[in-house]
Amino acid sequence: MDGIERYRVRTGQIIRLDEWDPDETALFDGSKKEGKALLPALNQRLEALQELLWAQHTHKLLIVLQAMDTGGKDSTIRHVFEGVNPQGVKVHSFGVPTPEELAHDFLWRIHQCTPGSGEIAIFNRSHYEDVLVVRVHELAPPQVWERRYAHINAFEQMLTDEGTTICKFFLHISKDEQKKQLQERLDDPSKRWKFRKQDLEDRRLWPAYQAAYEDVLTRTSTDAAPWYIVPANRRWYRNLVVSQVLIDTLDSLRMHYPQPEEDLAGIVVE
Ligand code: AMP
Ligand code: MG
Repeated sequence: MDGIERYRVRTGQIIRLDEWDPDETALFDGSKKEGKALLPALNQRLEALQELLWAQHTHKLLIVLQAMDTGGKDSTIRHVFEGVNPQGVKVHSFGVPTPEELAHDFLWRIHQCTPGSGEIAIFNRSHYEDVLVVRVHELAPPQVWERRYAHINAFEQMLTDEGTTICKFFLHISKDEQKKQLQERLDDPSKRWKFRKQDLEDRRLWPAYQAAYEDVLTRTSTDAAPWYIVPANRRWYRNLVVSQVLIDTLDSLRMHYPQPEEDLAGIVVE
């Protein structure tokens, strides 16, 4: 999977989502079956890198996942982190804020969940909801959410200055794909629990959400904390792209196992 950088949003790049094909599989020309078969090797690579991250206990990795409903955030977490030691990974899902959370600034609940040294934190939804659902459903006036882009960029810059590596993924599905997935949720008794009436309301607001996502991607992709737009109609391809970005990102940290405190050469355990 060379050329993964094609999915990275460059600082200042203006994003129009209709120019990004959610169906494409440009970096892989084999079948779905062949594509799926590539994932276990990437899982193993990620597992080894996570162990190194933990052992070295210096870097921290923050992964942000955003998508429209049924975009595949949960399934991405399940597949990409298969085999990775759960001790070093924490998943945080951000739903409708509680009264206590609402009584604070929008980053208050987020900051507490950022990763510590050696840890990976995965955000299933994030502070970006505060310029997405909040904007689209007019939960706050424009002057409130408008200034949040700058706050988000400053917050993420602070985190990276303090040793956090940030990767943000927008799982890009088409409106048709969402229709298929929502219908599947309704038809399959084992998936029905995931369905909420609000999903239909949000689906009606699809264009407003796409516009809000375009602003997020255009205004908050920075060198410190880049966004990746992941074609996500084909789930196997989505998994490969997310895995590869994480592997490349962790590789670029050039981590190594820490030196033992003293010279252990020659010690034999009886
Ligand atoms: P789910 O991810 O399906 O469990 O749904 C979580 C819901 O919480 C989604 O409808 C989000 O839009 C909503 N949500 C997350 N963050 C916020 C926020 N800051 N303000 C309002 N709603 C939010
Ligand atoms: Mg949902």
